[in-house]
Amino acid sequence: MGLVTDEHPAPGLAVTCQEVVELVTDYLEGALDEDSAAEVAAHLRLCGGCAEYVEQMRATIRALGQVPVATLSEAAQADLVQAFRDLRRPDQSRQGDG
Ligand SMILES: [Zn+2]
Repeated sequence: MGLVTDEHPAPGLAVTCQEVVELVTDYLEGALDEDSAAEVAAHLRLCGGCAEYVEQMRATIRALGQVPVATLSEAAQADLVQAFRDLRRPDQSRQGDG
C-alpha cells in the first residue's frame, strides 16, 4: 500500500479565507485569471462565511455601481477571517439552508 501525497489540494482548498477576502473584488470584477476564479468559486461552495461575504460585496457593488475601493482595513479583514473560522464547527453536518 502506498499513499499518494503528490496530489493537488481539492478545489476550493488551495485558497484560504484570507485570500478569498483579498481576491473578492477582483473575482466579482472578473479580473481574476481562470484558475484563480475557479478556486474562489469552489471555495465559496465549501465555505458559508466567504459565500455570505461575497454576496454582501456583490450587493454593495450593485448599489454603488462599482467596486468599493479599500473598504476593508486590514483589521477588518482579519476580523472577518476570524469570524469565518468561528463558523466552521467540528461537526460537519449541514443544516438545510437554501
Ligand atoms: Zn472561506
